[in-house]
Amino acid sequence: MALKFRLKGLAETFVDTITCPCCGVTGVDDQHFTTELTKVTYQGIIVVVQCRDCKEIFVPSSQKLGVLDNYALRGAVEKDSVDSGEAIMNGISAVRLSAEKLNALRKGCMH
Ligand SMILES: [Zn+2]
Repeated sequence: MALKFRLKGLAETFVDTITCPCCGVTGVDDQHFTTELTKVTYQGIIVVVQCRDCKEIFVPSSQKLGVLDNYALRGAVEKDSVDSGEAIMNGISAVRLSAEKLNALRKGCMH
């Protein structure tokens, strides 16, 4: 069973088994992980996972991104950015970077 994230008519992303890169816990649902930090970008929905056990934040590499309507997705991403006041993320590399920053902040080792 895979996790499925969907923005109706815009984009969808599937994630197979998730493994925490920090403590190695494996799962397919929200028993071990939360996905509240998931971002919508121009490339699609990028699932960001936080491990419930060790609190590590990471972007699973097993996700499959699908964009159904590129133009409408761009519009939704831009509207979201205006509404939330957060910067637009172009794609998975920007999301990975932001996850790394969150981890660094969490561990208090930001230089
Ligand atoms: Zn973990």
